Amino acid sequence: MLNRQGRPTEAGSAEGTAHETFTGNRALQVEEALIFEAGRPEVTGVDLDEPAKVSSRLGGLERKAPIGLPGLTEPETMRHYVRLSQKNYGIDTGLFPLGSCTMKHNPRTNEKMARLPGFGDVHPLQPLSTVPGAIELIAELGRWLRELTGMPAVAMTPKAGAHGEMCGMMTIKSALAARGEKRTKVIVPDSAHGTNPATAALLGYQVEGFPARADGTVDAEEVKRHLSEDVAAIMLTNPNTCGLFERDVVAIAKAVHDVGGYFYADGANFNAIVGKVRPGDLGVDAMHINLHKTFSTPHGGGGPGAGPVVLSEALAPFMPVPYVIAGKDGVRFVEHVSDAEKGAQPFGRMCAFHGQMGMFTRAMSYMLAHGADGMRQASEDAVLSANYIRASLGDLMSLPFGDQPCMHEALFDDHWLEGTGVTTLDFAKAMIDEGYHPMTMYFPLVVHGAMLIEPTESESKASLDLFIGALRDLAMAAKKGDTARFTGAPYHAPRRRLDETRAARAPVLRWTPPTPQSEAAE
Ligand SMILES: *Cc1c(COP(=O)(O)O)cnc(C)c1O
Repeated sequence: MLNRQGRPTEAGSAEGTAHETFTGNRALQVEEALIFEAGRPEVTGVDLDEPAKVSSRLGGLERKAPIGLPGLTEPETMRHYVRLSQKNYGIDTGLFPLGSCTMKHNPRTNEKMARLPGFGDVHPLQPLSTVPGAIELIAELGRWLRELTGMPAVAMTPKAGAHGEMCGMMTIKSALAARGEKRTKVIVPDSAHGTNPATAALLGYQVEGFPARADGTVDAEEVKRHLSEDVAAIMLTNPNTCGLFERDVVAIAKAVHDVGGYFYADGANFNAIVGKVRPGDLGVDAMHINLHKTFSTPHGGGGPGAGPVVLSEALAPFMPVPYVIAGKDGVRFVEHVSDAEKGAQPFGRMCAFHGQMGMFTRAMSYMLAHGADGMRQASEDAVLSANYIRASLGDLMSLPFGDQPCMHEALFDDHWLEGTGVTTLDFAKAMIDEGYHPMTMYFPLVVHGAMLIEPTESESKASLDLFIGALRDLAMAAKKGDTARFTGAPYHAPRRRLDETRAARAPVLRWTPPTPQSEAAE
């Protein structure tokens, strides 16, 4: 059956009560047309005088056909975008248990600070003399990041975690080149985030992987078997993507240093250890920090990120420009490779300007609001929340590495679903019906049918209890054989199962007007 919008309906899906509506809407869930479908070329939201005739100087290159923008009135435009925004699930609408992403609450005080005109309205091409406060904030944030990580230098410009990985690995490549060495290999354990091998490969390295041991951590002895004078670096995530602290990390760092290689740490999971462990003390040479994860600057849905990279003494000289150094006579700004202090050999630059000012301001505000003790407590609470989830679901859902404590995320596999006819994907879709964004699924790859849940510290116990209750109810339904609740889910979302593979492989990114019927008939 098709509704008025020509879309298939799912009458009777929930409890046999759903009936077809004239509009295709479901109460406040409005069936939203594309703006191009809704727009009419003759409509405009503004009332401008007809411009005076000018003679064209474009030599016949001016556009003759209509520009093709959708025409809507102001209220139509407003409603379209507000309704679209309401379809988005975000941390402001509910618990967002997406493991490895640290979807925590973004405190509103951060937003307020980021909007102060002195931060929010600065332009990257403004003379330096007009933005001393912004430069000082970059320096101060850098100081906090160095303090928290126990590292001597920080490159602030990278714009995301993956960009930071690239920056860190480029400093490693430069440091090796300065030693006159051209090593070809980077070691990346199989449990790594996909961006790690991608970064190494992009820089021309040969990536060598190996599996973790049975308890989910990387074995220093196994690392040693892969080390040689040809290894430029190891890229290791700690806590790792299974939510476990790498207990051999110091031995791994030493082994890599012994063959002259560097230790790149993926710091995306820093939220588990802020104020508890300083990566510099573990022997890390470079680590990116996802400000948008750990320090609560909004992300997901295309929000900007920021991925500063802290660097060891050995790598600091190769830090890309521009950067700020805070010295006795205030903050010095190094814009060009030629301005760099003696001995420094910046490898170039990662981006045109100084980084993501809005993210810097939010992260600084977050840090100042929390203070050192508050940041430590945030990490402790994040770990406590994850362990509460693990302990509350562990009797129903299987834990791949046994009943051991986790860090800030709880990892389940799909062993417990065997024989139920329900898959990890089905389970995730049923969570949507319960009003939750699904957890991270099928990652890390080292675990079969992985479900990675990261609740973060910003959920209250009441919120965690409701989430646990919903997941327990779903888990019991799956075990009881109520497969329909899963295989057809989501029932209540504006769209049901989408062909996600086709959407990824053959995305339709451009709207083309439907062929008029008269032409189609010819
Ligand atoms: C998020 C994440 C990244 C990449 O960070 P982006 O900011 O998304 O580029 C890298 N590694 C791990 C473990 C992550 O969780």
